[in-house]
Amino acid sequence: MFNYNPKSLKAEEFINDGEIRETLAYAEAHKNDRAMIDEILEKARPKKTGNGWNCAGLTHREASVLLACDDPEVIEKIYKIAEEIKLAFYGNRIVIFAPLYLSNYCVNGCVYCPYHLKNKTIPRKKLTQEEVRAEVIALQDMGHKRLAIEAGEDPKNNPIEYILECINTIYSTQHKNGAIRRVNVNIAATTVENYRKLRDAGIGTYILFQETYHKESYEQLHPTGPKHDYCYHTEAMDRAMEGGIDDVGLGVLFGLELYKYEFAGLIMHAEHLEAVHGVGPHTISVPRLKRADDIDPDQFDNGIDDDTFAKITACIRLAVPYTGIIISTRENETVRGRLLNMGVSQVSGGSRTSVGGYAGYSADERPHDTEQFDVSDQRSLDEVIAWLMDYGHIPSFCTACYREGRTGDRFMSLCKSGQIINCCHPNALMTLCEYLVDYASPATKEKGFAMIDAELEKITNPKVKEIAKKNIEDIKNSNRRDFRF
Ligand code: SF4
Ligand code: SF4
Repeated sequence: MFNYNPKSLKAEEFINDGEIRETLAYAEAHKNDRAMIDEILEKARPKKTGNGWNCAGLTHREASVLLACDDPEVIEKIYKIAEEIKLAFYGNRIVIFAPLYLSNYCVNGCVYCPYHLKNKTIPRKKLTQEEVRAEVIALQDMGHKRLAIEAGEDPKNNPIEYILECINTIYSTQHKNGAIRRVNVNIAATTVENYRKLRDAGIGTYILFQETYHKESYEQLHPTGPKHDYCYHTEAMDRAMEGGIDDVGLGVLFGLELYKYEFAGLIMHAEHLEAVHGVGPHTISVPRLKRADDIDPDQFDNGIDDDTFAKITACIRLAVPYTGIIISTRENETVRGRLLNMGVSQVSGGSRTSVGGYAGYSADERPHDTEQFDVSDQRSLDEVIAWLMDYGHIPSFCTACYREGRTGDRFMSLCKSGQIINCCHPNALMTLCEYLVDYASPATKEKGFAMIDAELEKITNPKVKEIAKKNIEDIKNSNRRDFRF
């Protein structure tokens, strides 16, 4: 008998190996049970309420049954419901962000990452505050408002004080009409006290990828360094929440372990956060293993194809409807385009995955020496923005909730109250307008202004519509920025 308890604070009890194995056996046994599958699909479908939408989500067992099912007709239905959820809760908006690499010094031995300690071929680099400022200006000049900072784990080179100093530099760098309004942080698992410091520094989401939920594999993939401690790593989100960070972002690196195991673990982790803290993860990222300096993805035998990857993403959308799904430039344009219709709500654009990769380089120049992984989608931000609009998605640079102190489960409340169309939607249009006026190419501007005119008409509250229209005119005709609902 195993000890599974989603409310436990012990990693091995809330991500319980026995429960995952039983879940996988249960999913295998029921994957052709059409009556059960139809019931699960019906449960996942978004339901219209008086003024908004409601969605029940799925348990890890239910979602695992869907993931195990190979019937093409069922898979099409999963995709369709994922799209329905996306449209009901997120509309046609896609939030834009960029990563900013601060330092690739790292004391860990992760076998899938070129920053691992034993890699002697990769140059080591850590940005000075002057360099951080230069990177931020370069990112602002592209049009970015939301960053995810990344740094290896190294108490000597990248202590928490260094990270805090960088956050301060980022927020205080003002250049032309630019501003970074939300800094999400992707650094190693740390203490409650350090999480409190990050909270006090005004971070948005704290992101930490689990890499794999399979403990034995985890220990083999992280043979040395503090990250070797599976429990300390897996329990990090509980410490972050204890430190006052309401928004946390989960993710596994698909390709390291068997995807069905990872998927069950990921949904169980979300259930655990909900059970203990009353709020699930703010985001889930879906990175896949990629080639880099001394890393060859073919050395790992659990790689997943594009169809499986799409199915995983859609099943996540059904299981945790109120959690944002992030896809990075690790994936190419085709894969990203496909997943945008299956529930992805955030994408990066114009990304550089090297330390100091933005300042001093033109849009088509990219330094490879300190890259963490190969960027598959190498288009500029302007090209990504134009492409999103070509497919009917509104690129959004909105950071309003975080700045208005609407953290934790605010997105769920916004959805349930039916106010998305009068809040997220105008915020998306106003921030898109800022981008178009300040940074876009003439062709992108033309597309964007036409989209804004059409989308303004969808706002249902006449007062909100009037204010949004006025703010958009102000953005076009003055340097006034940062309007928000
Ligand atoms: S994945 Fe993170 S912790 Fe591991 S080697 Fe790379 S930078 Fe270091
Ligand atoms: S208003 Fe809040 S929930 Fe809506 S897009 Fe902006 S930050 Fe996100």
